[in-house]
Amino acid sequence: MDRKKDIKALLSRYLKELFLSTMRQCYADLANQAQQESLSYEQYLLTLAEQECITRRNNRIERNLRESKIPRDKNIDTFDLKRVPGKVAHQVRSLLEGSFVDHKENILAFGNPGSGKTHLLCAIGQELIRKGRKVYFAPCSLMVQDLLKAKQELQLSRALKKLSKYDALIIDDIGYVHQDRSEMEVLFTLLADRYERGSVMITSNLPFSKWEQIFKDPMVTAAAIDRLVHHSVILELNIESYRMEAVKKKKSKKKQCPGREFK
Ligand code: ADP
Ligand code: MG
Repeated sequence: MDRKKDIKALLSRYLKELFLSTMRQCYADLANQAQQESLSYEQYLLTLAEQECITRRNNRIERNLRESKIPRDKNIDTFDLKRVPGKVAHQVRSLLEGSFVDHKENILAFGNPGSGKTHLLCAIGQELIRKGRKVYFAPCSLMVQDLLKAKQELQLSRALKKLSKYDALIIDDIGYVHQDRSEMEVLFTLLADRYERGSVMITSNLPFSKWEQIFKDPMVTAAAIDRLVHHSVILELNIESYRMEAVKKKKSKKKQCPGREFK
């Protein structure tokens, strides 16, 4: 009896020392189950090891989702793929597999405000994380401000190195109008640094023809576009705003059954 207790105490201690917390939590219940089902020693050990791996993988995904700063509600389950053009839906299905990051390919999503660009790239980003990749999301304005601050503190290369650990960067809304040249310079530096080294996923309300508004100089604009487009998938979301459509639907419903209006 005492020996049994000793074994449990020792096992618990060793598993703790080895950082096998799931095994420590599950081994006793699984041992009972294994006995009832006459499992072999190997099968029992396999189930235990599997539990440990599954928990670790899930914890890692959870940590990476948190670190990515991607809004959680913008995922593929909440995105209505039927709303986007057939070609885009087809492209998205293949992008969700995630191999584009292995080839350091970029995604460029264009379209009107409200067409779903941010939601769609966030959804792809979350799927990448679930497949074990690391992703970081930031509105372009914030990313640029962070890089500018790093540059002023002579830490730009360190900041770029930190970003380089992500398989994909989601830079949301690159079309916002920049105030001064130093902003566009750090943005260009970031894009040049990522070129063929890591994927960039960009949303923009501005077509390429208007990107001089972002990069000011025609040569810099051409160089930025050239690098981004070289290995890229372009998603054209030329559709009506989701919010606008929702408002219209609401209005037409009210017209159909005015008697059911609640005040
Ligand atoms: P954009 O970045 O193109 O301006 P957003 O991705 O911010 O557009 O979308 C605007 C709003 O509409 C968000 O709340 C988003 O979740 C929602 N939305 C857009 N497209 C879809 C879609 N196909 N399915 C579900 N929600 C959508
Ligand atoms: Mg957006």
